[in-house]
Amino acid sequence: MRRWLMVAAIVGLGVGLAGAEEPAGSAGPLVPKSAAARPAKARRLLVFNLCTGFRHAVIPFAAETITRMGRETEAYEAVVSEDIGLFEPDRLAQFDAVFLNNSTGELFLPKDLDKLPAEAQQAARQRDERLRGSLADFVRGGKGLAAIHAATACFYAWPEFGEMLGARFDSHAWGQFVATVQIDDSNSPLTAMFHGKDIRIKEEVYVFADKASRKDYWFDHQPYSREKLRILLSLDTSEMDPAKRAKGGRADNDYAISWIRRYGQGRVFYTAFGHGENVYRDEAILRHLLAGIQFVLGDLEADTAPSAALKEVSGAAIKASEPSSSSPGELH
Ligand SMILES: [Zn+2]
Repeated sequence: MRRWLMVAAIVGLGVGLAGAEEPAGSAGPLVPKSAAARPAKARRLLVFNLCTGFRHAVIPFAAETITRMGRETEAYEAVVSEDIGLFEPDRLAQFDAVFLNNSTGELFLPKDLDKLPAEAQQAARQRDERLRGSLADFVRGGKGLAAIHAATACFYAWPEFGEMLGARFDSHAWGQFVATVQIDDSNSPLTAMFHGKDIRIKEEVYVFADKASRKDYWFDHQPYSREKLRILLSLDTSEMDPAKRAKGGRADNDYAISWIRRYGQGRVFYTAFGHGENVYRDEAILRHLLAGIQFVLGDLEADTAPSAALKEVSGAAIKASEPSSSSPGELH
């Protein structure tokens, strides 16, 4: 990104952040007023907050925001829970999609599994297997799975979950920083709210490792691939300091942020956005989340052909050919 563009983006970010203009003590961020698509029927979304691993402090704020967004746009009714009993097949059937709200760890196993008597351990493992099968069947059978940020650190012991979601958390090599995020798929209704412009936001960007960069055993658990996923947004590393960029560890510098995919008859949306409250105060990102949720609910259509199969011009080429109405003196 050129320097003037970066300045414009930072200024734009300050104006665009809904939360920045909010008086202290107000009820929360300004959520979108209208849905991305009219729901075909009343929709129910299971917002699941449980973590058996690291727990993000933002989870209650995110749950409240996602709930309000569904209510105020009438796109869905959210049910917020940490009860794994809701994943029993007959109870899961009442939902149209599951939203993993920064969930981490082996969600369906008790944290103290190893300390339980042998019989209780066996029962816990049987339930874990049953609930995992229930969630996989739910998605494969035509329902939806949306997941944000740390949800790629769920179910490490369950290979199909990584495959279904599309990636496994490997690291957040840079910690939190003001990232430049580029639009990979500017034609998608899930990115329309960004108007083709880069996003500048403080975020803890995740790294999903690749075969070229990681040759240890852990690679076997890294399903991330543009041959399977339709990438919507990714980190723009072009202006990063080379030493900082190298910390990410990927030879191809492919750090995807958001994507969608079909899984069986169902739909999956993941975004690595979601570490801090600022993300849920950004109206464009809330619209992106809403569109992702409506995609998995089955109400918003989007092209899911894997990115690697597309023969479209690269993001860089699209940027270079954009009209420069806001850039006097800039010639291409
Ligand atoms: Zn985080």
